[in-house]
Amino acid sequence: MAAGNRLMGEDLLPLVELASPEELAPLFTAADQVRRRMVGDAVHLRALIEFSNYCRANCLYCGLRRENRNLARYRLSLEEIEGLIAEAYRLGFGTVVLQSGEDLWYDADRMARLIRYAKSLGLAVTLSLGERSPEEVAYWRKEGADRYLLRHETANPALHRRLRPGRSLEGRVGLLRYLKELGYQIGAGFMVGLPGQEAADLVADLELLVELEADMVGIGPFIPHPDTPLAGAPGGRVLETVKMVALARLLLPEALIPATTALGSLDPYGRENALEAGANVVMPSLTPKAVRRQYALYPGRICLDETGEQCRACLEARLRRLGRTVATGPGHSLKWERRNRNG
Ligand code: SAH
Ligand code: SF4
Repeated sequence: MAAGNRLMGEDLLPLVELASPEELAPLFTAADQVRRRMVGDAVHLRALIEFSNYCRANCLYCGLRRENRNLARYRLSLEEIEGLIAEAYRLGFGTVVLQSGEDLWYDADRMARLIRYAKSLGLAVTLSLGERSPEEVAYWRKEGADRYLLRHETANPALHRRLRPGRSLEGRVGLLRYLKELGYQIGAGFMVGLPGQEAADLVADLELLVELEADMVGIGPFIPHPDTPLAGAPGGRVLETVKMVALARLLLPEALIPATTALGSLDPYGRENALEAGANVVMPSLTPKAVRRQYALYPGRICLDETGEQCRACLEARLRRLGRTVATGPGHSLKWERRNRNG
């Protein structure tokens, strides 16, 4: 292992290349132990509100891409979204995650109204709106938004450009750095199993997380969507994805790492596997049943028919079975709290 006991590039490749469950078991155990020691047994539940599936972007992997004409589009009204934020509060969540395609109908002021409303209830606010302007994100931070999820998707610049027409890794990472400068807790992350992605790219993904000092890390399998140009691709696998979750935990011991819905959609125990290999966050959806099906980033999504309340109860039971508890309070990034304390 490299100096200072820190895993570095040359040590990472052989770990990223581990393939058999037998070889991976000790890695998962180590990540589980680091998770317990550094962030404890409590799992943070975040209420996910997917308020619009309109998107101006055209990411090749995503069912919401602009050119997918087979998708009925929806936009929730500000009043509806406020109703969902109130429900999150009533159900005992400490954080709401406001997520959508890149939909400019929700301009600076409309988003600010939602942020102010959530903050008035004492909730922490996470935004996941894609690439919005520096002015907008600065304004939302001033209005009280706490966190921003913007996965870097893949740290291979050529692959990034190919999969995200008109966009670049440089642009996305630049925005992440700016969000951090503004005082947001930042969430980076990537998909596993993208067509053309190699082990060296996954090493670069991990290195970028470390370089950015990501507060939150979203890692999920790529699941091919039939109405996209990547329909015929093989997609990512559960074990590969959980391996990357475990490595992310070892590299960023204090990070907030979700057991992603995409993992749960590939395998009924996918999220449990991640929770036992480093993850400490789950994001149940509070999106209304009437439109949840239409928020189709990928096919086969789980929990299409449960209400927010049922999702929360189901997750609490699953966590109990794993011997884990539900965290209370806003669940801020420990690293971010320290950054703030030190000025
Ligand atoms: N529009 C915003 C937020 C919504 S997309 C954004 O792009 O940041 C949220 C995440 O869904 C993306 O970051 C991407 O990693 C993931 N995603 C999109 N299509 C996917 C697919 N086919 N399989 C798995 N994850 C996917
Ligand atoms: Fe739009 Fe996000 Fe899907 Fe890209 S991943 S098409 S930005 S919703």
